[in-house]
Amino acid sequence: MLKSLSFFLLAAAVLCMFPAGLFAQAADDAKPSAAKCAHCGKEKFVSVQVKNCAAKLVPLCYECAILPRCQYCGLPSETVSGGGDRLCRDCAKDCIKDKTEAEKVMKDVRQVLTAKFKMTSKHKIIYELGTRKDLNLEADGEHNELGWFDPKTIRNKPQYTIRILTGLPRDVFRSVGAHELAHDWMDETLPHLMDKPEIREGFAEFVAWSFSKAEGNKRMMEYTEGRTDDVYGGGFRKVRAMMGDAKTAAEWKTILLKEFPLKGKKNGK
Ligand SMILES: [Zn+2]
Ligand SMILES: [Zn+2]
Ligand SMILES: [Zn+2]
Repeated sequence: MLKSLSFFLLAAAVLCMFPAGLFAQAADDAKPSAAKCAHCGKEKFVSVQVKNCAAKLVPLCYECAILPRCQYCGLPSETVSGGGDRLCRDCAKDCIKDKTEAEKVMKDVRQVLTAKFKMTSKHKIIYELGTRKDLNLEADGEHNELGWFDPKTIRNKPQYTIRILTGLPRDVFRSVGAHELAHDWMDETLPHLMDKPEIREGFAEFVAWSFSKAEGNKRMMEYTEGRTDDVYGGGFRKVRAMMGDAKTAAEWKTILLKEFPLKGKKNGK
């Protein structure tokens, strides 16, 4: 007892010499505890707690904490995806890197959107996987796109393509798929909103977030909630506030149309 008390006093005296910013870190270090490291599996002193792909805090030992991390969670990476992203074991396990699999998953995401939110479009959509370079070439280059909805008219016939970065962890892929399908729905249902970036991307993020919530996908909900840029993050918060308790695509359409009427301007604005 006396021994531990004198250790405490010594630790407190040492900690006082650190500037305030380092205090929290130093305080954590002053009382290291041993646990099974989430990466190497060894019983070791814990350096940091990181979020795994289920957005759950898990411990990393000192040796594993300094390794390069997965792009989609806090665990150390073990492999590089075909899209060039560093992935941990868990995120790499069932990542989507095959076109047939991508088509199958996108079909399922589309069905879930219909079942949960009655969100459907009549469009026949072509699904493709691409590298980050492919996607950035197609996209505006301003954002680090994971997916791309590309409506075109070829010989007077509309053609809809959704491209998604190859090698995404399955749950990330599904959420990106929901985002792109929200663009497709808007393109068919409320095309006049497609040239308002904040509403277009904010709504797609809102649909992806609602979809992730329905699937119990905590990390993708947190990802959307944590976006700080004006178009995606700001747009998401704006659209979510606008939607309130509305839960179906028909209700979302009514709210969007009230806010952004097809003809003329909104009263008072
Ligand atoms: Zn370790
Ligand atoms: Zn990961
Ligand atoms: Zn988008």
